[in-house]
Amino acid sequence: MSAAPTPPAVHASRDPGLAPVSSLPGVGPALAATLAKLGLERLQDLWFHLPLRYEDRTQISTIAELHVGDRVQVEGKVEAVERGFRYRPQLKVAISDDSRETLVLRFFHFHRAQAEQLKPGVRLLVYGEVRHGAQGLEMVHPQYQRLEGVAEPAMEERLTPVYPTTEGLGVKRLAGVIAKALALLPPDRELELIPPDLGAQHGLTSLRDALLYVHRPPPDAHLGQLTQGRHPAQQRLAFEELLTQHLSLKRMRAAVKRRHSPALGGDGTLRARLLAGLPFRLTGAQQRVSDAVAVDMARTHPMLRLVQGDVGSGKTVVAALAALAAVESGHQVALMAPTELLAEQHLRNFRHWLQPLGVEVEWLAGKVTGKARTRALERVAAGAPVVIGTHALMQEGVEFARLGLVIVDEQHRFGVQQRLALRDKGLEGDQVPHQLVLTATPIPRTLAMSAYADLDVSSIDELPPGRTPVQTIAISNARRAEVIERIHAACHEGRQVYWVCTLIEETEQLRAQAAEVAHAELSAALGDRKVGLIHGRMKPREKQAVMDAFKHGELAVLVATTVIEVGVDVPNASLMVIENSERLGLAQLHQLRGRVGRGAVASNCVLLYQPPLGMLARERLQVMRDTNDGFRIAEKDLELRGPGEVLGTRQTGQLSFRIADLSRDAHLLPAVQEVGAQMLRHHAGQAERLIERWIGGAARYAHA
Ligand code: ADP
Ligand code: MG
Repeated sequence: MSAAPTPPAVHASRDPGLAPVSSLPGVGPALAATLAKLGLERLQDLWFHLPLRYEDRTQISTIAELHVGDRVQVEGKVEAVERGFRYRPQLKVAISDDSRETLVLRFFHFHRAQAEQLKPGVRLLVYGEVRHGAQGLEMVHPQYQRLEGVAEPAMEERLTPVYPTTEGLGVKRLAGVIAKALALLPPDRELELIPPDLGAQHGLTSLRDALLYVHRPPPDAHLGQLTQGRHPAQQRLAFEELLTQHLSLKRMRAAVKRRHSPALGGDGTLRARLLAGLPFRLTGAQQRVSDAVAVDMARTHPMLRLVQGDVGSGKTVVAALAALAAVESGHQVALMAPTELLAEQHLRNFRHWLQPLGVEVEWLAGKVTGKARTRALERVAAGAPVVIGTHALMQEGVEFARLGLVIVDEQHRFGVQQRLALRDKGLEGDQVPHQLVLTATPIPRTLAMSAYADLDVSSIDELPPGRTPVQTIAISNARRAEVIERIHAACHEGRQVYWVCTLIEETEQLRAQAAEVAHAELSAALGDRKVGLIHGRMKPREKQAVMDAFKHGELAVLVATTVIEVGVDVPNASLMVIENSERLGLAQLHQLRGRVGRGAVASNCVLLYQPPLGMLARERLQVMRDTNDGFRIAEKDLELRGPGEVLGTRQTGQLSFRIADLSRDAHLLPAVQEVGAQMLRHHAGQAERLIERWIGGAARYAHA
């Protein structure tokens, strides 16, 4: 893309959307400041601030026809008023209408003046939700207005929008401001930023009509459809929002791609020696992905590649090959993992593979301190070829001599910003390192193309041969004793067992305690079998000692928290028990289960659950029993939980949509990608304005 973002001022004269909210009549500095808290600074922010839901005040219902749960408008005359103080002050107002039925309005917070106005005989227009009360139907804290000297109350002509708002700004006031802004909505030819021919090709309807519709739907609008966001007007807006997100990621990518990187072609000698020494041959998928990586790295512009592969698909060796290509070319490699345990696992693998080739591997985690750290930093600054660590790699004081490649494992745990921070460690002039991102979270293709539009995506879609699928069963915690019997039997056969304790959303300390309790229970139940314990509160050295003991078969059972979720590789462990499995999401269960089934023996996974199971939990456990396929599980996860959860936090905010919902609107993505490509090529200025319109401040940040 050619243009840097155009500062708003340039457009202000011809683009009414960029005018500040304070240009609206009745919006003074105080109101403008409150609006700014909602991110509403310009008229277009108001246009795109969409209702959460709608109220139907286009008609009046009779009291006789009300049902519990209805949100309706009723007109009636006050029959009786009662003020009570039994438990807390309350005001009960009985009204009746021509249907001669009674409805009770109940207030817990009210002013005295308010109570005094509600006298028998007063006519009211009331809106609220109908509930069961002690004396028949009632509304708690309905909205109401007194009808004085009005023969016929005026009905709204449209559904009433209810906007998300903030402290100190009433819904009505906000709706008023938005209505004023909408009155200034320009005609389509000015409002529309998607070129008309492109829009027409994909059947896009008028943006102006779509906005007016969603802000003020007609009385006969399909409320169900609107509530689900499936109305064509909403879909039109969702399209534009998805398009904007796509453009913004593509723009970020383009900005990086314009930079230069060292061509890391290498002569292949180290790689050939690594391959010759491996006890296995690469799978076809590993080979294909490695080739793509090698091609990228030989270029003088940065590689931006995401490699996704199911647990156990063999991503590590692909990363090692990429690292060696950099080393062959005389450059440094940094490998960053999100947890110390995972980083340590990589350290061991890399040392095991690379040291025989004469390639030193440096270790730089947060726990490396004092003299050891100083020396490590010196070696890194002097050009140590491969450096492995946690986020400590990005800290100040870490200087590389010739960083050529950054490998980030399990990217969904890092934000985009963190990834960029590490990349910037290698910044020299406009030179940036190549980037390789590894993730074990398989992402459905459409979603990947959208959420990772800034990266090229390769999939290792084949497992190494000789793996037997894990058999999974779900068992109620009431049958815990049987499960412990199974562990006995498995140990008797020489198999090793993981027992995973899960306590989500609690502190590391509570997690550790739960694991200690389970450890005591299992130690007692299993007699002379040795049971180990590992959790996040232990020192790296202690963790390592436990992992080593387990790996060498000295421990029969390993009680662990979810610290073992990623990376841990003990092929002889073939039974896993996951406690409270009903509390975990599919992706996490799949990751955990991936710790077994890594050898040739048949493996089993027992999902212990605490009954009764909710619908969602039941469905999740069923999916786990039905399939081992990470991609299918990811699709299902997306369906059950939505994309935010599936992708983890991408911290640039592009995934917090106002309207779009990737699982609901995925069908729009192919067209979004097509229109996006055309716009970047031929309409870069419009693309900028779209980003400014929908993302605003966040987009300005993305340029930093
Ligand atoms: P992940 O993709 O989950 O990071 P790993 O790289 O840890 O997977 O590989 C899992 C296991 O499979 C390791 O023990 C690794 O040595 C082994 N492995 C990797 N590639 C192959 C292959 N082509 N054939 C056989 N085993 C392989
Ligand atoms: Mg791995």
